[in-house]
Amino acid sequence: MSKADILAPHFTDEQKAREYLEAQRWPNGPVCPHCGLLGQAYKLTPKAKSKKGTHVRQGVWKCAGCREEFTVTVGTIFESSHIPLHKWLFAYHLLCASKKGMSAHQLHRMLGITYRSAWFMAHRIRYTMSQEPLSSKLAGVIELDETYIGGKKRFGPHNVKPGERQKDRPHPHSGKEVVVSVLQRGGSVQSHQFAWPCHV
Ligand SMILES: [Zn+2]
Repeated sequence: MSKADILAPHFTDEQKAREYLEAQRWPNGPVCPHCGLLGQAYKLTPKAKSKKGTHVRQGVWKCAGCREEFTVTVGTIFESSHIPLHKWLFAYHLLCASKKGMSAHQLHRMLGITYRSAWFMAHRIRYTMSQEPLSSKLAGVIELDETYIGGKKRFGPHNVKPGERQKDRPHPHSGKEVVVSVLQRGGSVQSHQFAWPCHV
C-alpha cells in the first residue's frame, strides 16, 4: 500500500491542500484580507502575468473591491513559507493526533524536510495552539480516557469454532460505541461519543 492510499489527498498534494484550506477558512467564499469583502474575489490563472510583470503563483485571488491580490495563507502561519502547504497540513495533523506530541526530529524524518524547517514548523504550530479559540480550552493537568459501551462480547479461546481463523472473528470493539472523556483536574469534563471504528 502506497503512502497516497492511506493518507488524505490534502496531506500529499499541494493543490489539494490549498483547496482544503480554502474550504476550511472560507466556507462562504473567499474573504479579502485587505478590505474584508466576502465572495467578491476571483481566482487568477497561474499562467497570467500580474501587474508587476511576474508570474502569478498557484492559488492567487484578486479582490474585485480593492483590486488587491491574496492567497488563502495570508495572515496565517503558512504565509510566505517555502515549505509545501500539504507538508504543513500533515505536520499539523501529526502534532495534533499524537497523544504524546511529536519532536521536530520525527517531523523531519516523516516529512522529508530539514530539521531546521521541522523545528520552525513545530514552533509555529504550537504557537497557534496558544492562541484563541484554543487558549480558552481546558488547561493545566489534563486526564483523558476512553471506554467502549455496548455490552461485552465473549470472544474467548473456547468460543472458537472448528476451522475458524483468528482474523475471521469480529473485532472485540465492533458494534460498540466509543466514549472519550477529557478532564481538567479540578475543572470541567468534556465527553465525546464516536461509533467504532473511529475515523478522525
Ligand atoms: Zn479587497
